[in-house]
Amino acid sequence: MMSNLDPDPHETISGGRAGVATEPVRELLEGRDVVLGGTRGMSVVRTLPNKERRMVGAWCFVDSFGPESVNGGPGMRVAPHPHTGLQTVTWLVQGEVLHRDSLANQQLIHPGQLNLMTAGRGISHAEESPTGHGPVLQGVQLWVALPDEHRGVAPSFDHHRDLPDLVDGGVRVRVLMGELGGALAGEGSPARAYSSLVGAEVAFDRDAETRVGLEPDFEYAAVTLSGAVEVDGVLLSPGSLLYLGCGRVDLALRAEQPGRLLLLGGEPFDEEIIMWWNFIGRSHDEIVRAREDWMTGRGFGEVRGYDGEPLPAPAMPTSTLKPRGRLR
Ligand code: MN
Repeated sequence: MMSNLDPDPHETISGGRAGVATEPVRELLEGRDVVLGGTRGMSVVRTLPNKERRMVGAWCFVDSFGPESVNGGPGMRVAPHPHTGLQTVTWLVQGEVLHRDSLANQQLIHPGQLNLMTAGRGISHAEESPTGHGPVLQGVQLWVALPDEHRGVAPSFDHHRDLPDLVDGGVRVRVLMGELGGALAGEGSPARAYSSLVGAEVAFDRDAETRVGLEPDFEYAAVTLSGAVEVDGVLLSPGSLLYLGCGRVDLALRAEQPGRLLLLGGEPFDEEIIMWWNFIGRSHDEIVRAREDWMTGRGFGEVRGYDGEPLPAPAMPTSTLKPRGRLR
């Protein structure tokens, strides 16, 4: 996890306005189990890209993992691999993960903290459970596509230990990126975003409810991380993504039992992109070049300190792909 380790990835073409719901909708989209490659074969649930819908704002990848017992074992072991054209957002519910990258950053992350890696024109990183890790690992890995005008930025990494923490009765919100409105409006996240978007975790005590303020020009979706949360009247359990469309000024949320929801939104992403393996580009040829650069040791630096070999890129699909609409 923390990476697309699929040994036979397909190019996914996303973006553009064609599929954006301009009115509020409630589309329940099932995630799929993806067994990631590597020696441990860890399993994740991928709700974006989904065969019905590939982006929500600039959010283009949502992998949920755990809760999984890592007691007595090595836990997560994701060897060095490259990224281009995106930001990775790492958010934990339980456990801890150690990040190392080709800029010589080394950062342990705990639940409630944010690791934000901006790949820009190219970076490589590794993620693993640290020595002496806890017994359970649970979290989510998200990717944000960078707009064309920013996707060539220099790579960077930021760890945010203290995110805005907003409370409304039995509901607590942590804003990962962007900002929320309504009763839970407050200062926005300090995390650097390159398009207008929001990502927030909403945690519920027993029998808690709230109404979050939304931006009518944004499209939104929700993913439950734990428990079951009622989102605009739809009971949402882990494993599915509820697409909510645009045109909303607020959103009713409630939970009977303690639970956690991830709310994602953003201005619909106008540009069409191509995602393949861990790269986001604008053309098939660009993806081919990024793959070649990684395989020949150019442009992605070196991750030091990881006990293992870097991940080789899978073979490219033989067909040439061109960007097209965001739905199919
Ligand atoms: Mn990665």
